[in-house]
Amino acid sequence: MSQLPVLCYHAVVDRGMPRGLLPRGARGYAVERVELERQLRTLLREGFRPVEGERLAAVAAGESSVPPRAFALTLDDALPHHAAIAARVLEGLGVRATFFIDTEGVGRSGRASWDQVRSLACLGHCIGSHGLTHRFLPGMAVAEGTRELVHSRAVLEAHVGRPVELFAAPGGRHDGAALAGARQAGYRAFFTTRPGTNEAPTGRFAWERLVVRAGTGADRLLRLVAGEARELARERLSHGVRAMARGLLGDASYDALQRVLRP
Ligand SMILES: [Zn+2]
Repeated sequence: MSQLPVLCYHAVVDRGMPRGLLPRGARGYAVERVELERQLRTLLREGFRPVEGERLAAVAAGESSVPPRAFALTLDDALPHHAAIAARVLEGLGVRATFFIDTEGVGRSGRASWDQVRSLACLGHCIGSHGLTHRFLPGMAVAEGTRELVHSRAVLEAHVGRPVELFAAPGGRHDGAALAGARQAGYRAFFTTRPGTNEAPTGRFAWERLVVRAGTGADRLLRLVAGEARELARERLSHGVRAMARGLLGDASYDALQRVLRP
């Protein structure tokens, strides 16, 4: 059965870069430039080939098949390090990614500028929406949710000059209403952080992703991308525990606890 694993990075940093320069929520996901390069070189060496964003949209719409040993690469949040560091690594390896941008973050202190977002598009990367404000969609009033989905897309299209067809849920949080709203807003695919490798991906709207964290490492990432059952089960278990903790504590208390536990 064909599958299309989609990697999800949050923050790519230079060695020695103070983690305090990153938004608090991104620190546990900080992958150093050399590690990103090691991870991608490992996948390429093992014969995995990247599928670009436009092809992902076509696969999601059932208009394109998935080549064997394929993977896709996504980076969430409008961070300046994506343009300054990750894009250089990707250029060196000839890999194209999809960058999910939360539009109201662009231009703020510590965030990417619109010039940087446009430069990613000019380098051949795909730009997708990550909402306007990065607020979680579940529980939002319908009008607000619609604005997050529809207006963020319009803003991105105006700045980048290309159709925006992919959406990644802020915080990975989603429910039936969020998925229905994204479909109605015209997106062709919706990316979650539910761990998985998207078996039989053709015609799929809600996509699973493999979230890369600071300690994931190239070998473990390879096992996940290869769909190794034990690694995927471990990842799903850990995702389930985090989701349960969020359910018990509520988002605010859970995030506060994360800040205490993480560097
Ligand atoms: Zn995000």
